[in-house]
Amino acid sequence: MRCSSRTARIAGEGVDAWIVHDRAMARREQGEDVIILSLGDPDFDTPRVIREAAQRSLDGGRTHYSPIPGETALRLAIAQHTKRTSGFDVRPEQVTVFPGAQAALFALAQCLVDGGDEIIVPDPWYPTYEALLRAAGGEMVTVPLRPENRFHLEPDVIEQAITPRTRGLLLNFPHNPTGACLSRDTAHAVAALCEAHDLWCISDEVYAALDHAGRHTSPLTAPGMRERGAHVSSLSKSHAMTGWRCGWAVTSVELALHLEHVARAMFFGVSQFVQDAATTALTVRDDEAPANRASYVRRAQVVVEELSTSKHIHVRLPDASMYVFADVRGTGLDGKQFAERLLDAEDVSVTPGEGFGASGAGHVRITLAVGEDLLREASRRIARFADSVRP
Ligand code: PMP
Repeated sequence: MRCSSRTARIAGEGVDAWIVHDRAMARREQGEDVIILSLGDPDFDTPRVIREAAQRSLDGGRTHYSPIPGETALRLAIAQHTKRTSGFDVRPEQVTVFPGAQAALFALAQCLVDGGDEIIVPDPWYPTYEALLRAAGGEMVTVPLRPENRFHLEPDVIEQAITPRTRGLLLNFPHNPTGACLSRDTAHAVAALCEAHDLWCISDEVYAALDHAGRHTSPLTAPGMRERGAHVSSLSKSHAMTGWRCGWAVTSVELALHLEHVARAMFFGVSQFVQDAATTALTVRDDEAPANRASYVRRAQVVVEELSTSKHIHVRLPDASMYVFADVRGTGLDGKQFAERLLDAEDVSVTPGEGFGASGAGHVRITLAVGEDLLREASRRIARFADSVRP
């Protein structure tokens, strides 16, 4: 069978991020006791009230096709939730529901990117970005987030990367894997750049609910960003609902109509009972995220405390997210070597920073998705391994 040239453009992108994880999972399947800290999947159960809403919905026969852009009640709940958490007015017609933020990002690229367009993405970047931009015919142009600057976005660096082919920005703050947030000043500077150069801005904010100290500002709150912004989020991280696959995009009404056409061709509406549960998550139980957030803050403290005992690891508390991004350059190993050898030596799997782009080199991402005791044990092993390596 002859496959499209597109398949070559999307193959293999971001695979470095999963190499160690896949090896760790294979070992666990063979019965080995491996501590997996290499997947961004919350260990918390989806809250009972949300599960019960889904069960009631299933029992009530809500197993049919749903409206393509989403159920009216959920679109309203998302509009209200976005206003409450991000601070900008949203009407339900601006909301399109997707099976996860990932699908929303893919659909947005289909609607915004033409062949040969350049899209600026801060590096480190989330490993699916390159494939979804290239699937739409675009090219990802990366700009570095520097460890010396705590991986904060520097608007000047974006400006230098703008060419006549630049069409937009794809941002992810609060940031995976570094946990960096966007300050208000930076958000406004980014908005000014978009305005000056007529760029759109997709803002992937799936970690907004895991902002540890209220530092996150959505770039879409800045003046002028209503029309040129697309806000993407989901319940995956905020409500421990990764497997439910429920996310959304908030855009202009015009773009929402285009997204609806992609959604119709792509998945034809999200399951009714999932949307009913999601409506409950955002209305009845919109207070769940703070509880999870408090756990992630404590877990990050545990990791930083233990890793700081090693002379060769440099580590700081993240501003947001469910990750600690540790600098292991002091061991003389790159992130990939460190993660591979750590798995062999100490049965702990972490994600090599190189999997997120060149600026992640020499770092590893540690996911905070196990309880404090196990995390302390894993962190001790990581520190022990780092100190055992001869630079
Ligand atoms: N963006 C980022 C930055 C992520 O980390 C993830 C999930 N790990 C996603 C998007 C996709 O999230 P969802 O489960 O809502 O598709």
